[in-house]
Amino acid sequence: MKRREFIKLSAAGCAALGLMELQGRGLFRPAVSQGATAGATPQYLPGSLGAKEVPSVCEMCFWRCPIVGKVKDGKLVKIEGNPKSPSNGPRVCARGNSGVQLVYDPDRMKYPMKRIGARGEGKWAKISWDEALDEIVHNMQKVKKEYGPNAIAYFDHGASAEFMREIFKATGTENYTNEPAFFQCVGPVAVAYLNTAGYLVSGTRQYIDMGNAKVILLVGSHIGENVHVSHVREFVAGLNKGAKLIVVDPRFSAPANKADIYLPIRPGTDTALLLSWINYVIQKNLYDKEFVRDHCNGFEKLRESVKPYTIEWAAKICDLNPNEMRKAIELLAKHRPNVAIHPGRHSTWYGKEDVGRHQALAILNGLMGAVAVPGGIYFQTPVKPGKAKGMEVEVEENTPAISLKTEYPYAEALGTPTANIIKATLTGKPYPIKLWGINGVNILQTIPNPYDTMEAIKKLDFIFCSEMLAGETAIWSDIILPDATYLERYDAIHTYDGLTPYLTIRQPVVDAMFETRSPYWVAHQLARKMNINVFPYEKEQDYLNLQLQPLGLSIEKLNAQGGILTFPSKPYRSRKELKLPTDSGKYELYVEDFAKNKLDPLPKFITVTAPPKGYMRLVYGRVPMHTFSRTMNNLWLHNEMPENELWLNDEVAAKIGIKDGDIVVMENQDGKKSNPVKVKVTAGMRPDAAFLPHGFGSKSPLLTKAYNKGASDQFMITRYENDPYVGSSSHRTSFIRLIKDGKTLDIPEIRPLPPEIPRFEIKKTA
Ligand code: SF4
Repeated sequence: MKRREFIKLSAAGCAALGLMELQGRGLFRPAVSQGATAGATPQYLPGSLGAKEVPSVCEMCFWRCPIVGKVKDGKLVKIEGNPKSPSNGPRVCARGNSGVQLVYDPDRMKYPMKRIGARGEGKWAKISWDEALDEIVHNMQKVKKEYGPNAIAYFDHGASAEFMREIFKATGTENYTNEPAFFQCVGPVAVAYLNTAGYLVSGTRQYIDMGNAKVILLVGSHIGENVHVSHVREFVAGLNKGAKLIVVDPRFSAPANKADIYLPIRPGTDTALLLSWINYVIQKNLYDKEFVRDHCNGFEKLRESVKPYTIEWAAKICDLNPNEMRKAIELLAKHRPNVAIHPGRHSTWYGKEDVGRHQALAILNGLMGAVAVPGGIYFQTPVKPGKAKGMEVEVEENTPAISLKTEYPYAEALGTPTANIIKATLTGKPYPIKLWGINGVNILQTIPNPYDTMEAIKKLDFIFCSEMLAGETAIWSDIILPDATYLERYDAIHTYDGLTPYLTIRQPVVDAMFETRSPYWVAHQLARKMNINVFPYEKEQDYLNLQLQPLGLSIEKLNAQGGILTFPSKPYRSRKELKLPTDSGKYELYVEDFAKNKLDPLPKFITVTAPPKGYMRLVYGRVPMHTFSRTMNNLWLHNEMPENELWLNDEVAAKIGIKDGDIVVMENQDGKKSNPVKVKVTAGMRPDAAFLPHGFGSKSPLLTKAYNKGASDQFMITRYENDPYVGSSSHRTSFIRLIKDGKTLDIPEIRPLPPEIPRFEIKKTA
């Protein structure tokens, strides 16, 4: 994958969340709209009548649904989906609705702030924009002069963080594309599909046609709890049209509740299941022979390599019923090629085997012939706006003799693994890192082992961040720049290249409050102060109008037609015209390029160590009303879900004397303890794992609603491994036991462990 391609793709991105559809399947309780009359659930709020409507783009999560902001007397009163949007129409999810409360959150960063106490102490003084920017410029230049350009590193997330990225790129550092989103989330799945299918089937978006599938397979994806409006709508459309659903998950998730076949797998063994299914369809001749013959490379090598992986072997490893496993794969094969084998997105689970697991999913997809056909993975339809000159810095690619990227062949083109940045900052090796810039991401609630990250921050000469609200990372910063929210600023043009392609723009719905500024304005100012030849446009409207021009549009004209320009899509191909965007034009069942880089060209079963005696694995996931730590302080969302609950298996709970609603503290294998958290006792959780919704347990006192509410899964993840392909960091490799009323409770073993799976050993420190 080329860096530019990935960056572009990563940037591309319920009133009603497909509300009727969801209610139809009973996934959620009905939402009651604000101002609704008792007993009725109107689709539109009466409070918005007569309001001025401004089309824009949501950023309460990265899915970026087109929205309309309703403004009365200069105040944002309501957000709805843009009815012209082919993907979400008038719908937004609960978070999309609650953008109103982001704008008016009293905890917002209002002015540039400078630290006056010790780092992390949380003492600040208000300063001017000029002072703040001068301090940043001074420190960037000083660090570069003393230690060289690579001593500067940038962590970012979101569309608007790209402007500041150009400033870092211009310093000459190799460490300017350190997206935690890639190295903590999509890295392994992106690399697996890019090298198998030739394109990014899953990154920010997932190009999987669930709405037209006859069978949908979800391995660890909890769509519906993980809400992206158009994606959920496609999932529900498929179910409503009669698609069968197979769910593989150690937790009885919302989609598991709707599954025709539910496989409650032992965590860490998904690749064993997938390899046995691959072997089964080959041995039983259930695969798409024509597709394999005409469009795949490496079938014979694959056939040989999966021979040892029988259903019976995998059943023992995965702790599953072999008959159910067979039923599931036969159901999938019966309906090929119109089957949606969901590629997943968050893929940094266990480290060494993460790419192989997603490669196995991609291979199964190829064997089903589910490529560019209704129901399968489909091709993107790129939407191409025009260009505005001078928006990117032209610099020579910097690959120093000693690089933080070379250890991981597929990181080279994509950025620097965050784990390596933190190690180099902590140790000064292989070279020192002395300055961090952070934009739009709370790295302490994102990157495993936040304790190491905090120690690394202490070693920096300078750290600054650009934020709307001061989460954990912001309180460690020397300077905080107050960002305008997505409802108060322009951004780059937003295009969607899925089944319903469109182009739209993010634009201010209301004026920016306080002394907040747009990220473009900040980057533009820094470029002037540092003499960097980039961002020649004084106003964002100027570059946006240039980009719209070749389409015969301007901001004004686009707004006059409802803020959206739609395009026809071409997701499918006939078998005759099918050519994959790999080097060979074929679907690679065996990845030569992995072999060239001395990595496994075919997926293998790599054992993931089981919890030590007395512990269970900590797994985590999303809830529909929050986007990680970034929405925890939002009043409406906080009222919906102020804290999280730890899901605990009912048999385990009975054996250790825990009841539903009890309060416990988690203790991990390294002795780190959590905030107190409420237990949800349920038969819907495997006994060897516990589940905690992600993003809670804020440690920032500057977030008055979120502070200390619930427990943080991230602060329990102190043990991680890096996958050998991209260096992404695993997140499901930490283990917990529980403490109640001061007494430590060991977790009993309910399901016996086969001898093939070793336990993780806790090393006793002297
Ligand atoms: S899924 Fe919800 S939060 Fe995400 S962009 Fe769409 S409306 Fe906004």
